[in-house]
Amino acid sequence: MNSENLPKNSVKTICPYCGVGCGVLASVDEQGQVSVAGDPDHPANLGRLCSKGAALGETVGLDGRLLHPEINGQQVEWDAALDKVANGFADIIREHGPDAVAFYVSGQLLTEDYYLANKLMKGFIGSANIDTNSRLCMSSTVAGYKRALGSDTVPCSYEDLERAKLIVLTGSNTAWCHPVLFQRINQAKKDNPDLMVVVIDPRRTTTCEIADLHLPLQPGTDTTLFNGLLTYLEQQGEVNSLFVDNYTDGAADALVAAKASAPSTAEVAKTCALTEADVTEFYRLFARTERVVTVFSQGVNQSSVGTDKVNSILNCHLLTGRIGRPGMGPFSFTGQTNAMGGREVGGLANQLAAHMEIDNPEHRDLTQRFWQAPLIAEENGLKAVEMFEAIDKGEIKAVWIMCTNPVVSLPDADRVRVGLEKCPLVVVSECIRDTDTTAVADVLLPALTWGEKDGTVTNSERRISRSRPFLPQPGDARADWWIISQVARRLGFADAFDYETVADVFREHAALSGFENESKRDFDISGLSGLDRKAYDAIEPVQWPVKTSGEGTARMFSDGRFYTPNGKARLVAINPRAPVNTIDDNFPLILNTGRTRDQWHTMTRTGKAARLSEHSPEPYVEMHPDDAKGVMLKEGALAQVFSRRGEVIVRVRTSQDQRPGSIFIPIHWNDQFASQGRVDALVNPVVDPISGQPEFKQTPVRVKPYQPAWHGFLLTRRRLDMDGVSYWSCATGDGFYRYEIAGEQAELDWPVWARGMLCASDNDVNWVEYLDAKAHRYRGVRMVENRVESCIFIAPSHELPSRSWLAGLFVKESLLEDERKGLLLGKPPVGQEDVGRIVCACFSVGINTITTAIKEQNLKSAEEIGLALKAGTNCGSCVPELKSLLSA
Ligand code: SF4
Repeated sequence: MNSENLPKNSVKTICPYCGVGCGVLASVDEQGQVSVAGDPDHPANLGRLCSKGAALGETVGLDGRLLHPEINGQQVEWDAALDKVANGFADIIREHGPDAVAFYVSGQLLTEDYYLANKLMKGFIGSANIDTNSRLCMSSTVAGYKRALGSDTVPCSYEDLERAKLIVLTGSNTAWCHPVLFQRINQAKKDNPDLMVVVIDPRRTTTCEIADLHLPLQPGTDTTLFNGLLTYLEQQGEVNSLFVDNYTDGAADALVAAKASAPSTAEVAKTCALTEADVTEFYRLFARTERVVTVFSQGVNQSSVGTDKVNSILNCHLLTGRIGRPGMGPFSFTGQTNAMGGREVGGLANQLAAHMEIDNPEHRDLTQRFWQAPLIAEENGLKAVEMFEAIDKGEIKAVWIMCTNPVVSLPDADRVRVGLEKCPLVVVSECIRDTDTTAVADVLLPALTWGEKDGTVTNSERRISRSRPFLPQPGDARADWWIISQVARRLGFADAFDYETVADVFREHAALSGFENESKRDFDISGLSGLDRKAYDAIEPVQWPVKTSGEGTARMFSDGRFYTPNGKARLVAINPRAPVNTIDDNFPLILNTGRTRDQWHTMTRTGKAARLSEHSPEPYVEMHPDDAKGVMLKEGALAQVFSRRGEVIVRVRTSQDQRPGSIFIPIHWNDQFASQGRVDALVNPVVDPISGQPEFKQTPVRVKPYQPAWHGFLLTRRRLDMDGVSYWSCATGDGFYRYEIAGEQAELDWPVWARGMLCASDNDVNWVEYLDAKAHRYRGVRMVENRVESCIFIAPSHELPSRSWLAGLFVKESLLEDERKGLLLGKPPVGQEDVGRIVCACFSVGINTITTAIKEQNLKSAEEIGLALKAGTNCGSCVPELKSLLSA
């Protein structure tokens, strides 16, 4: 929706998904309908939203919500649940010590929630066993920044993207993972045709639509590529000697290591499997352009050499002094909306609060005094993968999981589930009742979610924004900060956790950041520590540090002073290491994992929105056509993918954009949406030795055809129990659920089987059916009055009619005679269109509509498609796909 169409009293809040941190205007009408629009005043997005943000209003329904506390599946009062958690933790701590318990938290928590979880664990329980799912997406960046800059400080601002002359996007499918920043870069390129964009990624992703140069490097060779750049910069006389001599250490050693591993562009090209011309062009562009921003994200971080990759990038910026000035700098795009807030409060097991260090005695003393805490964690705690290994081994006996779904998202996910099943006490704070992780919980605590929660978050450019509530608290659900405080009080820490409002928590967090700081630490928001409730409610988006009231800081390190002991930045000597996971004859392909355009994490929220499910309704593997052919797989078939750890069954998509030898599977699917789609069950729990970040992008796998006896799909107005169906996936449609199904055993009587599957009752039901029993072809449509209630199509192969026209019938109260005739064919009558797979989620424009319009109206650009069909004119997330369709 356009922001002008929203009522004047709309609430200014923030999108809960990715690290871009887009401002959102939200309003609720008298029928309780929620509308959203991009906030034109928010500096992160200036009114833009991507498809996920634009669909937020469709995800706020209470269906599937956890609304009451539960113990062992029985609803209980809050007091009973809180007593159970506090007593359970207290008993285990008494018997086994504080390191026998753990918290596993999330970048989806608000900063105030995060702050209290960290305070309770590190200052009052006395262990550092609190880690966050942000470990999975950006901990290599944290480690890399700290090694080079002395602090976990993102130097840049989003406006640097508009002021740059060269943007290098490495390990970042920005178009899908940070879509509004992609829109900003795209617009900057239109406004300034001299702006060059280089994309470094083994896959040709949608982001390459705006690339002047794409380097599809061999996975895992990033450090060689950037070491080669460092060498080249020196050889070309591009060292900024003034900056290097006055503000850095380590340049000489870094250059020696770089030259040893990457002596020439020819050697680099060979190692990275690139052409020498492309490598030279990249190096030449970087060398000759002063204003360079290098953006990096999960493709860099999620690696057993992730920290080295980050430092190899930072080295190039430090050698040229391209940091701390407008339009330049090394810029990490964070995964989650509040990954940065989590870093600020010490949500990682190797940090204290306010960017302080556990292994620094001064920091420990300062924090303990400020908190007036009885204890302070003296050693780093267990990082995410280690934590769940300790749970599996029985060393951790109680774990409290907040706002995340580790049974889906951690590597070796099946082992994570087994470990939690054995763990004596598993507490889960959640807003959704049924997730793969709530299934193994002893205690469920109902938490508030987006639209109900109150607090702050920090985005990738250090900008703190208010997440404001505009919906009532449903059922017994409560804020996470309240739940944590209540447990802390029951553990005997009432004085230290006597907060009345979320603003009390924020003030304390802000005050700690400035406590005895005197500019020694980067994170300082003491200028916000005196806000009263009204002022807290009114906080405008502001970039930290905020040392005086309301005054933010756009760019860091402008004065050449860094947070190392001698104030100088450090270039780090990088000796490239091969990734730990390597292929062999049994596992000859490399699995890369990542996000799709329209889904978020484990789909608990985005999976509710029909328009977000249409783009990718099923878990899939993307393969190069030659790799698919090599294992006898075709587009649309089902494949089994095996690693040494697990197995998934997914639909095959072939694409020339995929590098031969590498495959891609999205991270989103779980047991609520597919029978066997949890890709992290495949991923080896190998981690970067410095950051502890898992290597999600380099798992050796084998692919083979999955050959069931039959294939099919069904569309139905209610969710079904899929017990006994060998393969299934479920997607939410407009008024229906779409199931893709397959079975290993052919049914003897398909009509009876279909009735058993689809009929809650046979009253008032008409069946329209076709059966060829010998060929195992069956089509059945169940009608109530003249409305489609459900339909099922079964065939011996995966080649079945299009689902899109049938799906469109579910919004019709009554079918036309011609439509009834087309039901069993799955084809529209003459004069009606099958729109095909949805490309533009905002306006539900399908691929058939677009390709027909391109041909018949001779459309030549995405803008012309927008004028003709509206596709791509709202959030713009589908524009790269529109361009692909035009070029195809
Ligand atoms: Fe939300 Fe999209 Fe903005 Fe990310 S880019 S914060 S998902 S609207």
